[in-house]
Amino acid sequence: MSERIEALIIGAGFAGMYLLHRMRGLGIPAQALEAGDGVGGTWYWNRYPGARCDVESMQYSYAFSEELQQEWNWSERFAGQPEILRYANHVADRLDLRRDISFKTRATAARFDEASEAWEVETDTGRRITARHLILATGCLSSARLPDIPGIRDFAGKIYHTGQWPHEGVDFTGQRVAVIGTGSSAIQAIPVIAKEAARLTVFQRTPNFSIPSRNGPMTAEYAQSWKQDYAKKRAAARQMRTGILYHLSQIPAMSVSETERRAEYEARWAAGGTAFMAAFSDLLTNKEANDTAADFVREKIRGLVKNPEVAEILAPKNHPIGTKRICVDTAYYETFNLPHVTLVDVHKSPITRITSTGVEAGGQTHAVDSIVFATGFDAMTGTILAIDIHGRDGVSMRDVWADGPRTHLGLMVAGFPNLFLITGPGSPSVLSNMIVSIEQHVDWVSDALAHLRAQGLSTMETTLTAQEDWVAHVNEVAHRTLYPQANSWYMGANIPGKPQLFMPYVGGVGTYRKICEEIAAKGYPGFSFGAARRAAAE
Ligand code: NAP
Repeated sequence: MSERIEALIIGAGFAGMYLLHRMRGLGIPAQALEAGDGVGGTWYWNRYPGARCDVESMQYSYAFSEELQQEWNWSERFAGQPEILRYANHVADRLDLRRDISFKTRATAARFDEASEAWEVETDTGRRITARHLILATGCLSSARLPDIPGIRDFAGKIYHTGQWPHEGVDFTGQRVAVIGTGSSAIQAIPVIAKEAARLTVFQRTPNFSIPSRNGPMTAEYAQSWKQDYAKKRAAARQMRTGILYHLSQIPAMSVSETERRAEYEARWAAGGTAFMAAFSDLLTNKEANDTAADFVREKIRGLVKNPEVAEILAPKNHPIGTKRICVDTAYYETFNLPHVTLVDVHKSPITRITSTGVEAGGQTHAVDSIVFATGFDAMTGTILAIDIHGRDGVSMRDVWADGPRTHLGLMVAGFPNLFLITGPGSPSVLSNMIVSIEQHVDWVSDALAHLRAQGLSTMETTLTAQEDWVAHVNEVAHRTLYPQANSWYMGANIPGKPQLFMPYVGGVGTYRKICEEIAAKGYPGFSFGAARRAAAE
């Protein structure tokens, strides 16, 4: 027997929670399904040592409620995972969201029924739910991925993935630990694990550029400087390229002298954080400009790492800086100066297998007690395609996206009526402050559903033409930048066999928001609507 609900939300991370709140405000009966047994999404799963947000706490929080943003106090400039998870739980309590969330329930399939114009959703608990609207708030980095290295099952020690960390934590004291991967997660985890472990061996395939965070305690003055002016600051952040308020230079890098350039890089390095990439206006579009920033960071790495051979392995040379997600760290490079920390260059000597005792690379077995896979996610599409979704005429989302994701605005897919994506591929999503982009999408979808109600309409879907135009635009804008030059997860390059195309929209949060707002204001050109059948028959 199928339960009925007007809006079914998949996921109770920051997107799912805000969606529930908005649906209640509109009087639309809604429920959320959540695979975990708590709220928080990415912050629920990614409990690895050192997990921390690289967007400043004062900006990485909901803006929709003045009370919420005034009453919550952050303890650090960049909040750690436990504190962000506490914040998510606080919001869930404050807004009494849990009563409409089914935890430990994963959506496994969804089929659009043409006759009833509703989605039939199946779950791993056997529940079947019929919903007029299906909203995928499934997150962009929620399908953790173990690489296909032979022998993983043979390993006699413990295996962990940063994206599925045990809730009770892990004590590495006295252990020989391997970390595989050197992306954002590893770069945060490595210095913390190194403090506990007896030996730490890091297996690096591709080095990443990392900027020091300069994290520290939140000061009352800094918090107050935001709180006294929150509305204005949030509004300004929404117009920024990344949805983060910081000084974005309007000056091209090569238009100033080398001395001035260096001074700017030094100042940004000293200030810390991702704002380093905003030092000049063209760092992501002009290779010559980009090289100056990359050279600066490589020089810093060589200065921080005492062993010149290790420094050279850590200094990235195969992609322009910023075209792979820039990392932010606390004492990452310095960790390689510790006598019990070893770096293995698996680009030169690939990992061949995992044995019962350790990791085999370059003909040598590195004996370890635990292996931490910091090997990332099937990003942006993995979690959506893990649900067996069929739209009009039984067409499968997996088939429609066989050559890569196709969406209109990252919000809807042609042939899948009343199915909305939050921060889907084709929207700024992972290139932005996720909470800013989540709020914008949730508001857009909520307004669209209010429009349907007001007009007595039952279905909304994107036209194929509008979708294809948007896909072409997303590609065109991406190719005006240096981003496609990197084998990044933005391109799907980290998953063997995944189609290679640049998935997020690089046009910027402010520009994108304007496009979405104009479409809504003009009555949704590029979308088609179906009149409610019952209403039509009456
Ligand atoms: P990631 O960036 O995809 O990094 C995965 C790492 O594993 C890469 O170094 C990759 O090397 C390596 N790897 C994968 N398969 C391998 C294999 N078979 N052998 C050796 N190495 C292998 O994943 P992540 O670090 O979890 O980060 C994902 C994203 O999450 C970030 O880019 C960011 O957007 C987000 N994140 C944000 C924060 C933050 O806010 N501070 C923190 C953590 C994560 P290759 O590069 O050669 O593939």
